[in-house]
Amino acid sequence: MAIESILPTPNIFEAKRILCVQPHYDDNDMAVAATLARLASSGAELIYLTVTDDLMGIEDVSLSDEAAAQALKRDQFAAAKIVGVQEQYWLGYPDAGDYNYFAVRRDLLKYLRLLKPDFVFTVDPWLTYEGHRDHIQTGLATAEAVMFAGLTKIASSDPTVDSAYEGHDINGIAFYHTREPNYISDISSTWETKVAAVRCYTAQFDPASMDRRIAALDAKSKQVAQGQSFTRGEPLKVLDTNALHVGI
Ligand SMILES: [Zn+2]
Repeated sequence: MAIESILPTPNIFEAKRILCVQPHYDDNDMAVAATLARLASSGAELIYLTVTDDLMGIEDVSLSDEAAAQALKRDQFAAAKIVGVQEQYWLGYPDAGDYNYFAVRRDLLKYLRLLKPDFVFTVDPWLTYEGHRDHIQTGLATAEAVMFAGLTKIASSDPTVDSAYEGHDINGIAFYHTREPNYISDISSTWETKVAAVRCYTAQFDPASMDRRIAALDAKSKQVAQGQSFTRGEPLKVLDTNALHVGI
């Protein structure tokens, strides 16, 4: 019997409630805004959870942390409106800082048990040559929390959430920024939506670097669609939750 018939790759378009966990304010949208916009327009609920405070990448370093946080949230809410994100949560760990991996995992367990998504998107922590620890920690903590959400002996950061939790199914996880995609999402119809969302992140990019970023995304979206029946794509590694351990 083929492994694929035992643990088939889940269909992201069957997801109803999607939690998108990102290290920084713009990661979900830079990577997969066009796919997420398609999912939102076909009826899925989108929830974003941002792990760090993202204060190190701010363009105007003269801003106070409070003003910078306000600018980052302003950008994020503007993009959310375009993509169709319904709820946002923030964990506030220090961007590029010294924080505890297990504390992040406990917080992610809390939000998985509280929000009960049936699908999770996050950054691929196994991206070759990824140099940013926030990305590695966020992706790995999310994968572990997805695996462990139903194991209630593993405590989250909120005992009240844990005691009220009655279990739910997380059908799959989709990793973006991946070197090993097994699914290319057709984004031909939502590419312009993605560009509009990405352009909201003005607190982190000056106009010239934003133009370069859009040009890179433009080229990549066409490159990954080569050999497909569409012209633009976003690459994902999509796994059944049960495929997150020992390589099956
Ligand atoms: Zn990032």
